[in-house]
Amino acid sequence: MVNKLDAFLIDKIKARWVLDSRGNPTVEVDVFTREGFMGRGAVPSGASTGEYEAVELRDKDKAFAGKGVLKALKNINGIIAPKVKSMDVREQEAIDNTMIELDGTENKGNLGANAILAVSMAVSRTAAQVLSKPLYVYLKELIQASESSGEVKFLLPTPHSNVINGGEHAGNNLAIQEFMIMPISFATFRNAIQGISEVYQALKAVLMKKYGPIARNVGDEGGMAPPMTFTTDAMDALVTAIEEAGYRPKSDFLLAMDAAASEFFENDVYHIDEKELTPMELLDYYSDLVQTYPIASLEDPFEENDYNSFAALAKAQPSLQVVTDDLTVTNLKRLKTAIDLDSGNCLLLKVNQIGTLTESIAAAKLSFDNNWGVVVSHRSGETEDSFIADFSAALSCGQIKTGAPCRSDRTAKYNQLLRIEDELQINAEYAGKNFGTAYKQYL
Ligand code: PEP
Ligand code: MG
Repeated sequence: MVNKLDAFLIDKIKARWVLDSRGNPTVEVDVFTREGFMGRGAVPSGASTGEYEAVELRDKDKAFAGKGVLKALKNINGIIAPKVKSMDVREQEAIDNTMIELDGTENKGNLGANAILAVSMAVSRTAAQVLSKPLYVYLKELIQASESSGEVKFLLPTPHSNVINGGEHAGNNLAIQEFMIMPISFATFRNAIQGISEVYQALKAVLMKKYGPIARNVGDEGGMAPPMTFTTDAMDALVTAIEEAGYRPKSDFLLAMDAAASEFFENDVYHIDEKELTPMELLDYYSDLVQTYPIASLEDPFEENDYNSFAALAKAQPSLQVVTDDLTVTNLKRLKTAIDLDSGNCLLLKVNQIGTLTESIAAAKLSFDNNWGVVVSHRSGETEDSFIADFSAALSCGQIKTGAPCRSDRTAKYNQLLRIEDELQINAEYAGKNFGTAYKQYL
């Protein structure tokens, strides 16, 4: 344990671009303290990005077809670094607030949420380093605003594993973006990951039998991307794959979807399954699906401005988890509106939608306080940074969305949670069946 204050004071920040999982540049930051401790953070990037997300600053010039991040790096080196130099890495909130003030906009449009978040994440990792604590332990203390004493228990999340990719994440005709499996009957996180892997391999075989070798192509999040058009084709394939792998749909695996409906909403109608549906017709369409398949969770069923249709679905299907992503964009104001209007019952939490760790924690707390669940989520453009794995364990929110059990940008998060479970042993509980409510005993 290091006590010397210098060990905690920021000496310098090194910012660079690295590649994300789609081959685009993204921001990575190393924070160094005066005693040479270092923590790193790398920022992910979305494709079906919500209109109200904090700004991801891109250079918009010739390099990388406009996707360069040199302006963001310049903002870190020239504006953020001089201000946070000599601050204490344990002062996460003060550092985040300093960056928010420096930016001075509602949407982090000046400095860029990608610039700010990279520093925010790296600061917390540096603090954990200096304190010789695992990141998930340090983050839990930060969330609870107190140091833990004695044996501390952690709830490990039920994955929403995205095994069939559609929408903006694949080159097929599926309107719905994500078709996910949720392992619920498993005693441990490790058993659950084994189940996901077995179903994924069975799914590959099921799809190749029906569509031929083209079906083994994968989408942005490592899920299969077969040449499908209809939602029910994807649902049927999931049910078959679960059975082929020797498991029971509903008892062992529930299903989840992210419609990302803003992406197929045009001229006031939703374009899905070769039909054009009004919001209320789409609600009936989802209700039929929920009757037919063991669907437990549905994210972004309507476009990102339609609080009322979200509320109508949550009311019509009271046992369905209605998750808000593009609707709430991890933004406290939008989340408050959604809570007030009952436009769902679960927040999708993406740290880069809002741009600081402090605001992300506040969004999770607001959700818990209002009886909403929380799913910690990756982006479709990811890096090898497994920050969200530790963050989901620290929040003990009971749910994570981090893609298929395929491609290192996705498995990095699963593998980190496997390590965390190994480390914690009996102090880890797998959320499983109680994925949406188990967090309550950890608050
Ligand atoms: C999502 O919509 O939940 C998602 C992960 O996709 P993206 O990162 O492209 O927004
Ligand atoms: Mg989404």
